Amino acid sequence: MHWRRILLPVLFTGIAMAQQGRRVDDAALKNTGKTGDEWITYGGTLAETRYSPLNQINAMNASGLGLEWSFDLGTGGGNQEATPLFWNRTIYAVTNWSVVYAIDARTGKQRWKWDPEINQNAVRGKICCGVVNRGLAIFQGKIIAALNDGRLQALDAETGKPVWEARVSYPQDNYSITMAPRIAKGKVIIGVSGSEYPVRGFFSAFDAETGHFAWKFYTVPGDPSKPFENPALKKAAETWSGQWWKLGGGGTVWDGMAYDPEADLIYIGTGNGGPWPEELRQSKGKDNLYVCSILAVKPDTGELKWYFQPVPGDSWDFDSVQQLMLADVTVKGRQRKVLMQANKDGFYYVLDRVTGQFISGQPFAKVTWAKGLNEETGRPIINPEAHYGAEAVTLSPGPGGAHNWAPMSFNPTTGLVYIPTSTDSSSTFAMDPNFTVKPVGTNIGIIRNPGTPGGPPLPPDVAGATPSTAKLPPPKPPSPPAIGPTPPEGQRGMLVAWDPATQTERWRTPGGGSIGGGTLTTAGGLVFQVINDGRLVIYSADKGEKLHEIQTNLRGGMGPPITYMLDGKQYVAFMGGVGVVVPRDATQTPATPPPATTIFPKLLVFSMDGKAALPSPPPPAQ
Ligand code: CA
Repeated sequence: MHWRRILLPVLFTGIAMAQQGRRVDDAALKNTGKTGDEWITYGGTLAETRYSPLNQINAMNASGLGLEWSFDLGTGGGNQEATPLFWNRTIYAVTNWSVVYAIDARTGKQRWKWDPEINQNAVRGKICCGVVNRGLAIFQGKIIAALNDGRLQALDAETGKPVWEARVSYPQDNYSITMAPRIAKGKVIIGVSGSEYPVRGFFSAFDAETGHFAWKFYTVPGDPSKPFENPALKKAAETWSGQWWKLGGGGTVWDGMAYDPEADLIYIGTGNGGPWPEELRQSKGKDNLYVCSILAVKPDTGELKWYFQPVPGDSWDFDSVQQLMLADVTVKGRQRKVLMQANKDGFYYVLDRVTGQFISGQPFAKVTWAKGLNEETGRPIINPEAHYGAEAVTLSPGPGGAHNWAPMSFNPTTGLVYIPTSTDSSSTFAMDPNFTVKPVGTNIGIIRNPGTPGGPPLPPDVAGATPSTAKLPPPKPPSPPAIGPTPPEGQRGMLVAWDPATQTERWRTPGGGSIGGGTLTTAGGLVFQVINDGRLVIYSADKGEKLHEIQTNLRGGMGPPITYMLDGKQYVAFMGGVGVVVPRDATQTPATPPPATTIFPKLLVFSMDGKAALPSPPPPAQ
């Protein structure tokens, strides 16, 4: 009898575990992506490859993919940029205003919903670049959500009830959060957004079990009359001059992160310098570490191990926060553990992820701000005209970037990376000679849209910023000579299949761009691309042949696709739709009902032979 008394609780635990699904701990995260059954971290794997070994949907049958079910995600109020997660027969989704949904993946019915009730009217104006949220994390039975207003919350994955809450940043300090939290060694890693505002960028680590603060890494040095937080910042201060700290300096952290447990390093990308022109940071000719950089730090302590700065002395909003992807790639006959980034600045970078050594870099889109990269160091050879003053210059890429947050994916079979690319973006830059610092709001220090009418479009990531009232100088007509693949006529957005081993383009096909949607690649020999015009398109991974296309009728505000296995069947899911957008300067929610053309956000789930009706197309605008 004695053994039975011991065995019973163990049995009950076993049943409970089976009902709850495999627990997401460090080991599960390290191994995720091997079966493709789940999607339990933002980038699909810790290496952020967005590759799935699933092959039930493949080149032979992809044309049969259809909608299985859809789920309404409330009123929205911005682009749905989140990557949903799938775990324990449940899809976890977060909307642009950080409302978290748990949806039963078998029935498409809500299991729970958690609305953090962000004070939208108060916070809206403190979010520099769009009310968005790119995703969630899962750890030890908890869903971890980073809220736009700077809170970090852990919710019970079964009930949606809060387990702990921590404070990362305050809106009053011009910070917001838009990136998906990641888990490394039991810690939640999260950074802050807002380099178009006067802020000092940082990222922090919190204990994932308790929410207790662990460490914080500022990406730019503070006031040098006070002690530096660490030796890396003391070193960084040598690359600044004047009184940069009074404006914060920028370098915010809002998208790319990866974790290599073997190297015991996390990798983080940092954003633009603030204000944009180096001259207004009183740092002309200085590198301004660690803006526009890729940083490798120890997950236990936040100690900086190495850095690589793609854009020294950035003046062009070339945030280097884009997806950081880890892979093993054979370069010149030698297997290398690499970190890769398709940077806003138009170059594809391949680095040794253990040492930070530059391996190679080539333009994957039209580039005019630089002539190329130094072959040894990767430092850009910047065109002299790119260092603009009050006289305007037109440069490629523009601040929207050749590649922005729309995720790319890496297929180890083809060896190709599928990059949603704006091949031909550009913007005209001119420093605002009358720039004065505002304590809140946009402080980018450039004249918006110089030479209007007929000028280039506003940079998309600062749309809504107050235009300068300064007199507009005419744009300087010629732009410096271009390098990189020649953009096709009249086609700005392309899906580019890039070979990182040889740094060459293997194929490209029209559609998509640096912002919106994203890609997923599978062992079925497929690339799934969500395009911001509402389409899901499936290509063959080797040649880029279009195999299937579905217009979801969710026009705009599209998020990246995931795939998973449930009851022996493969599914593809993503979010999209904008909903009711309130202008950032509005203090009251409009009393008028939303226009009939409003597309409310949805989660869409597709399967082979899915027969559900797609959302209705929007009525024509009046
Ligand atoms: Ca920026």
